[in-house]
Amino acid sequence: MSALPEYALYAIRYARRDARRRDHFIGGDPHDAPMPMDYFVWAAIGPDRAFVIDSGFTEEVGTARGRAFLRCPVASLPLVGLDGNEVKDVILTHLHYDHVGNFHKFPKAEFHLQEKEIHYTTGRHMRYPFLAHSFEVEDIVGLVRLNFAGRLRLYEGPVELAPGLTLHPVGGHTPGMQFVRVHTSRGWVVLASDVTHYYENMEAGRPFVAAFHVGEMLEAYDALRAAAPSPQHIVPGHDPLVLRRYPPPRPDLEGIVARLDVMPKE
Ligand SMILES: [Zn+2]
Repeated sequence: MSALPEYALYAIRYARRDARRRDHFIGGDPHDAPMPMDYFVWAAIGPDRAFVIDSGFTEEVGTARGRAFLRCPVASLPLVGLDGNEVKDVILTHLHYDHVGNFHKFPKAEFHLQEKEIHYTTGRHMRYPFLAHSFEVEDIVGLVRLNFAGRLRLYEGPVELAPGLTLHPVGGHTPGMQFVRVHTSRGWVVLASDVTHYYENMEAGRPFVAAFHVGEMLEAYDALRAAAPSPQHIVPGHDPLVLRRYPPPRPDLEGIVARLDVMPKE
């Protein structure tokens, strides 16, 4: 078991938005307080292979949606020693606009996704704006083109992409959602992505507003806990607490990059 490679694991914040607590829980929230949202991409860098996890949105799409765009996620990869032009593997946790934009900036990459997510985003539910508004149609069309180009790897279930890196499908947020488990020097870290947007969604069992299936979202919180050695090994997808709990790899990257392969504060 100790032969498993250890990955360096980073979160890179590329955008943010102001929001209120009521925006993030089904049924709202009695406390009318600010609850801003951060937007991240992640990178897992092992001795032999490197994986980028999600690709963020473009400045154009983010601005149109009223998000505060801080930096291009792909142009930021050199901060952790990667070059988007050379990246071979991009894992897509799901196809929401803030996770799959910029796919065109990885000219050499294969993209790893659950097949259900392509079925969902080209299927009957996209006629409903309530569900479709979280996707950019050009992203979905672009993914279909990538598939015809032989650059999409579609999975039906859990998969070990490499020793020390596994993908885990769960429902709830979208039908083809997956989270990523990465082996690091502190053991297995579970990158939840939007399986839980905030620590609080999972810890309090209060589902996030963007839900395809509420029951499966609650079960997905259990799946995160089952996959992680401790709650401190689960990293939510959009919580500003991530940059407070985890240190930057260098002092000048404070507020931009967090190291997730070390234990969090608290
Ligand atoms: Zn999402």
